[in-house]
Amino acid sequence: MGSLTEQALKPAFLDGKPKLMLIDGKHVAAESGKTFQTINPTTGKPLADVAQAGPADIDKAVAAARRAFDEGPWRKFSPFDRQAVLLKLADLLDRHFDELAMLDTMDMGGPIASTSARRRRGIAMLRFYAGLATSLHGQTIDNSQAGDIFTYTLREPVGVVAAINPWNGPLGLAIWKIAPALAAGCTIVLKPAEQAPLSPLRLGELCLEAGIPPGVVNIVAGFGDAGAALASHPGIDKIAFTGSTEVGQHIIRASAGTMKRVSVELGGKSPNIVFADADLDEAVPGAAMAVFANSGQICSAGTRLFVERKIHDEFVARVAAYAKTLRVGNPMDPNTQLGPLVSGEQLERVTDYLAKGKADGARALSGGSRITEGELAAGYFVAPTIFADVNDSMSIAREEIFGPVISAMPFDTVDEVIRRGNATEYGLGAGVWTRDMGNAQRVSRGLRTGTVWVNCYQVMDAAVPFGGYKMSGYGRESGTEHMDEYLQTKAVWLKNPPIRL
Ligand code: NAP
Ligand code: MG
Repeated sequence: MGSLTEQALKPAFLDGKPKLMLIDGKHVAAESGKTFQTINPTTGKPLADVAQAGPADIDKAVAAARRAFDEGPWRKFSPFDRQAVLLKLADLLDRHFDELAMLDTMDMGGPIASTSARRRRGIAMLRFYAGLATSLHGQTIDNSQAGDIFTYTLREPVGVVAAINPWNGPLGLAIWKIAPALAAGCTIVLKPAEQAPLSPLRLGELCLEAGIPPGVVNIVAGFGDAGAALASHPGIDKIAFTGSTEVGQHIIRASAGTMKRVSVELGGKSPNIVFADADLDEAVPGAAMAVFANSGQICSAGTRLFVERKIHDEFVARVAAYAKTLRVGNPMDPNTQLGPLVSGEQLERVTDYLAKGKADGARALSGGSRITEGELAAGYFVAPTIFADVNDSMSIAREEIFGPVISAMPFDTVDEVIRRGNATEYGLGAGVWTRDMGNAQRVSRGLRTGTVWVNCYQVMDAAVPFGGYKMSGYGRESGTEHMDEYLQTKAVWLKNPPIRL
């Protein structure tokens, strides 16, 4: 394994030098001189030293983004110009995608087959937002006031954006923040998660190469204190946060002092509902991969698997059998389907839940523990797990685990499964598997979630909005609505001077 991950396929970016922050178009070390190590979760060994942003560096990055917004050439970029640089960035992303995918695989453990398969999505996102850059428009509005007053609205960029991201899809999440911000004419300071900062730092370099002026995109890696400094910084106009509900709440509180615009994409405990009439050959792998993809480290993973009682036992046995066929291993191997969890901390969290599930009386039909044999013992690997004999009140059925763990439960009626599906503080995603379109629609309408997938799961598209209900957050990413998060609306009242003869 060592030979694959550490020698043969080393991305050029990993040149042994510390990876610096990108502020005002320059690579800079932290003011404090501090660095931290980013770890390869497959081996548990460090990949690179990374400059660790503290509050002083955040001040510098925000000042650069502020200058770029208030005074820089970016202001003069027409929609056409912003579109052009985003399209150029899409081309550069395509050209450098192998390296970026490899960085994500090495930094957070996503299988190379999956990280490389996101090329199309990354390019599609950049081109989609490039298109929107030239589609922004206000309205002309008939008002009812006396006099000859014409009213119209302008859509203006909200200003300097702070984007704070988690580690579960570092490259895609970075693009998802940078592209709409730039399409709207904003400037941005992006703080990737400390667990996986490499591909976002490399993407920052490509932004410069694409002709995006210095200071427009700044990338600062660091810990929670760097994120907190952004969340309360008076120079920031808007925060776009993706991460846990708990940190999201901190950020909302911290933002109140300066009344920032906030959008928050948070955690989930999504229901995935299988009716007896579903095409089970599709639903079995569908239900499995709704959770096991990315080793369960997906916010909208369908972790509460509700199965109609008459097929429950057969169905969960089939999901368990499918789970056992999945190839868990070195994520740099193109045949691997499940890599490690991102970190030792995440491993501990997931194995704690496995222990709690068992203690509560749930039965693991597959997996159920860390993999401790052979080379995988060095990394943070957990076998894909399906628990049966789960009830709604167990912690494994209520709390976000963020690991490859399914909690399966039988149900009897449509109304019951809608009620139980909604009996969670979260509301991010949901799945329904059935051939009965009446049931598909009843469930889709009944669930209070930002997305419902029918006979599929986890499909995403740049044109289709994604986001949460309830404690899964607010705001939408993707789709035309996404631009609203980055735009202000200004009303202009234009009174015609009287005609004086
Ligand atoms: P997290 O712990 O909430 O961290 C997210 C980001 O916030 C990281 O960059 C983190 O920095 C930073 N941060 C930590 N404390 C902060 C503070 N007090 N103020 C400001 N920023 C702070 O989440 P995670 O463990 O990285 O990711 C997993 C979570 O993300 C899950 O709950 C998952 O559901 C959610 N998620 C949601 C979506 C969605 O679209 N809804 C997508 C992906 C993930 P450091 O990591 O450097 O400490
Ligand atoms: Mg790492």
